[in-house]
Amino acid sequence: MTALERLVTQAERLLLQPPSGGCNNTDAFRLGQHRELLAMLAEAVREDLQARAELAALTRDQLATVLAALDDAAEAREARGCDNFCADCADSPDRLCESHAADLDACGAYRVLRAQLGGAS
Ligand SMILES: [Zn+2]
Repeated sequence: MTALERLVTQAERLLLQPPSGGCNNTDAFRLGQHRELLAMLAEAVREDLQARAELAALTRDQLATVLAALDDAAEAREARGCDNFCADCADSPDRLCESHAADLDACGAYRVLRAQLGGAS
């Protein structure tokens, strides 16, 4: 979960709390929390937009190279993880060894990043 997603979850939880039923210190305290949270959310959204803008700053050729590299890396990790299981993996097919599980995790991460960068496979 990203920092932004954590903040949104926290905001939802806070905002869904029922009002205390009167104008009192509890409501004033919550209002303060809401303001603080909104400021944090605004900052996180600004940072997220900045990060996306930086990603978008790749030229078309650079992006194509990055996408191709992610494809190659994902395929290599997948091949290593799926095609060459070791004795440990073979002994217990429902639970891969650390090394082969790491290959498949990395493969998944590369594919997620590729999708986030906007390239269709
Ligand atoms: Zn293995």
